Amino acid sequence: MTLASDTAPRHDWRLDEIQALFALPFNDLLFRAQQVHRAHFDANAVQVATLLSIKTGACPEDCKYCPQSGHYNTGLGKEKLLEVERVVEQAAAAKAAGASRFCMGAAWRSPRERDLDVVLEMVKRVKALGLETCMTLGMLDGEQADRLAAAGLDYYNHNLDTSPEYYGEIITTRGYAERLETLGSVRQAGMKICSGGILGMGEAPSDRAGLLQQLARLDPHPESVPINMLVKVPGTPLADVDDLDPIDFVRAIAVARILLPKSHVRLSAGREQMSESTQALAFLAGANSIFHGDTLLTTENPAVARDRALFDKLGLHPEQPLYYDASAARTAEPA
Ligand code: SF4
Repeated sequence: MTLASDTAPRHDWRLDEIQALFALPFNDLLFRAQQVHRAHFDANAVQVATLLSIKTGACPEDCKYCPQSGHYNTGLGKEKLLEVERVVEQAAAAKAAGASRFCMGAAWRSPRERDLDVVLEMVKRVKALGLETCMTLGMLDGEQADRLAAAGLDYYNHNLDTSPEYYGEIITTRGYAERLETLGSVRQAGMKICSGGILGMGEAPSDRAGLLQQLARLDPHPESVPINMLVKVPGTPLADVDDLDPIDFVRAIAVARILLPKSHVRLSAGREQMSESTQALAFLAGANSIFHGDTLLTTENPAVARDRALFDKLGLHPEQPLYYDASAARTAEPA
């Protein structure tokens, strides 16, 4: 493999090629990932993302990592779908704070018809504010995807989670093929894709390679690729799984950068538990997007201040105010 070939998007990565990347000496792997990264992005720019949960808890799916699953007792309350007006208020505050994109997530298997009508209204109203829109609502069929796209939805998030081989150990209520079908419907409808996975769920190294192979097979590649480190939530079946070595996590980020050269690779869940050094290595490996997690702006969000301090320490800067900046929006709320 030459370096030149590393920078052009490919969809035919073989598992043995991907595993060979994982097996490189750490410094060689990071050097290659940096070269690919710098060929496509400002190496010191990081996109900042925040998700507003529009419906939390009591999800019928059994994803073993998820505190929102109704199958496990994690003490999380069940909330109804937020009212459209409340979402629009939050979006308007986001816009006032300089955001140009607004992400909304609901813990559903798939949207029900009556809920979809409400969600379509949210998309239209948020879009009418002049914001880009992003949603994660579970599985979509072709018609639902078309309706969301027609309402103005720009991005849809739907993760593959892990390799096809390990998937059955993590989720039994929906199949891998159904996930790929949803992503196909999203693309067919003309929307952009946000799709990634979770590491540290007890998977084998070959599963990390398998997940990245599946993401690289998507043609075109997803525009956003969230790579999460498992957050072990008491009450979920993965609460006591062994920790993933942070170096193995950083290796996966570097391989994702090489396989998905033009995608935003997002450090998502699990960053709270990560040391600054691990995060710095992840940025060096090619991560160029971070996720603050969901907030309704009712409480202080110290993570935002910590992130700013880390950015300052590393000389990083936000790519652009694409997403909802929770701390800035809070100051825009009425007293
Ligand atoms: S579908 Fe989403 S919200 Fe529901 S259990 Fe799985 S990860 Fe959690």
